[in-house]
Amino acid sequence: MGKCIFCGIVNGGVDCKIVYEDEKVTAFKDINPAARVHVLIIPREHIEGIKQAHGKDPGLIGHIMRAAADIAEEENITNTGYRVLVNSGPDAGQAINHLHFHLLGGEKLKAI
Ligand code: 5GP
Ligand code: ZN
Repeated sequence: MGKCIFCGIVNGGVDCKIVYEDEKVTAFKDINPAARVHVLIIPREHIEGIKQAHGKDPGLIGHIMRAAADIAEEENITNTGYRVLVNSGPDAGQAINHLHFHLLGGEKLKAI
């Protein structure tokens, strides 16, 4: 965990643009945005992925989705629309093993 870049962001050692924080989650701008609005929402606790969230705070995922909706509102993309997604494992291209939800919007997104 010592080398986890996202734990570094939570703990303040890694520089980034934080847009939202509360007792459970931190949210910040993606360093390599895939859309005009691209925010990553992560639990403050190091949890590797969706599977490892089992047995943790059962309200965590709902809490993250609510934070995503609040951030979307703050970014003025509620009406134009947005996407919230998690990449899990190699086939999805998960690059960082600290659970993170992507919030994407601010432009027309490619259909999936
Ligand atoms: P994944 O592919 O694991 O779902 O997404 C990882 C995301 O983290 C990528 O979109 C990548 O641009 C972003 N990212 C990787 N390293 C950093 C960093 O140091 N700071 C920020 N703000 N984003 C990062
Ligand atoms: Zn971590």
